[in-house]
Amino acid sequence: MPIATTNPATGQVLKTYEAMSDEQIDAAIERADLAFRQLRETTVAQRARWLTAAADLLDAERDETARLMTTEMGKTYAAAKAEVTKCATACRFYADNAPGMLADEPADAAAVKAKRAYVRYQPIGPVLAVMPWNFPLWQVMRFAAPALMAGNTGLLKHASNVPQTALFLEDLFRRAGFPEGAFTTLLVGSDAVDRILSDPRVRAATLTGSEPAGRSIAQIAGREIKKTVLELGGSDPFVVMPSADLDTAAEVATTARCQNNGQSCIAAKRFIVHTDVFDAFAEKFAARMAALRVGDPMDDGTDVGPLASERGRDEVHAQVTDAVDQGATVLCGGEKPSGDGWYYPPTVVTDLRPEMRMWSEEVFGPVAGLYRVGSYDEAIEVANGTSFGLGSNAWTNDPAEQERFAVDLNAGNVFINGMTTSYPELPFGGVKNSGYGRELSAAGMREFCNTKTVWIGAGEAGAGAGAHSE
Ligand code: NAP
Repeated sequence: MPIATTNPATGQVLKTYEAMSDEQIDAAIERADLAFRQLRETTVAQRARWLTAAADLLDAERDETARLMTTEMGKTYAAAKAEVTKCATACRFYADNAPGMLADEPADAAAVKAKRAYVRYQPIGPVLAVMPWNFPLWQVMRFAAPALMAGNTGLLKHASNVPQTALFLEDLFRRAGFPEGAFTTLLVGSDAVDRILSDPRVRAATLTGSEPAGRSIAQIAGREIKKTVLELGGSDPFVVMPSADLDTAAEVATTARCQNNGQSCIAAKRFIVHTDVFDAFAEKFAARMAALRVGDPMDDGTDVGPLASERGRDEVHAQVTDAVDQGATVLCGGEKPSGDGWYYPPTVVTDLRPEMRMWSEEVFGPVAGLYRVGSYDEAIEVANGTSFGLGSNAWTNDPAEQERFAVDLNAGNVFINGMTTSYPELPFGGVKNSGYGRELSAAGMREFCNTKTVWIGAGEAGAGAGAHSE
């Protein structure tokens, strides 16, 4: 893929970049390694001051930064501004809380026959971050903020269609005070990832993106015995049961499906509705979807902007067409517009069957699949019946049913009577083909730490001796 900014609202190429040479990549890795040696000697309080400075810059430069994202990948300007603010919040969260998360954890010294024993969290070195374009700032920040606070350094290989946002991120951390090389943007294609991850100075990798990209990185990392965190795709279920407040559920369903122009890994994609309320919910949901305003993402009144690429729009339309050709029913949308920009209308499709692509594939655009089920058990069967397991939603006002959904939905998170989202305070990640490992919270920070056991004996004859090893 060429490294270029192309405005999805017009299809116009605005700026192109040369990929970095092997020599430039090697030099960047060397700087990241040197910066790691420097960073691990700094105090957590110092790193917190730098991260707070990054948050202040994000707040001060919110509007320009948001415009950059909207121009590169088409999200609405309002959503882009909210994304910048969310990044600043996450920086402050880690600046405030990392000292506690990284503090030594004392163990029961007597139980392990020590004078003192504790667990220490230490950074591991330069980490490669391969990131997607859909939340060009947030996806990177939720890796970078905890990684830098822990004392690691970051090498970013961002998606090829968001180079300006990628360069902004490197500049942001430099201006915030982090040492040269602490966070570096590598303008490279995905073909350079093997070389970078195979370098002994690079200690781990995190990837947010598609399943094929995840498989590829995991293979390289397996060969090199390096830790990975994979945040891959999802086809989140949104289950509506008879006791749910249908107006609220339909309202949230519309936002949950069409946020970020329908291009979110944790967007609700499959709406699984109990037959007792199916018709009422379908009517309310389709009416709200059809009423969304599609248009220029810079306009205040726009709800849904263009998809990020022509290829992405064609893929979404092919999935809808495949379902319709096999007998599915379109309740709204479903027509590919002509004219400039890669727009696609909010669409609701029902009467889906397992042989249709939409049943099992992730649809990365504002298209909802609507499924009728006759019971709780059938709802769980359909909800869990894909290879994904990222997020999940259930709508019910029955407390016992809420508890059952929390247990039975096989996903990295369960949101009941609310939209799936990410918070710095809560772990984020998936199961099954949605990936492994966690981002955010203390769990996310510790993915790239050496959890080191420290055991200190009395140094006297007999102390600690005689225990069997391993
Ligand atoms: P993608 O093609 O996998 O791209 C993501 C990143 O991986 C880009 O930087 C891309 O580089 C790189 N890449 C692609 N193929 C690669 C390979 N074989 N080896 C190494 N790197 C590779 O994903 P996308 O289609 O643009 O993004 C949408 C996908 O991301 C969806 O499936 C979505 O659900 C998922 N996603 C997941 C999460 C989550 O948190 N779980 C969040 C957001 C998105 P180039 O741009 O240079 O190709």
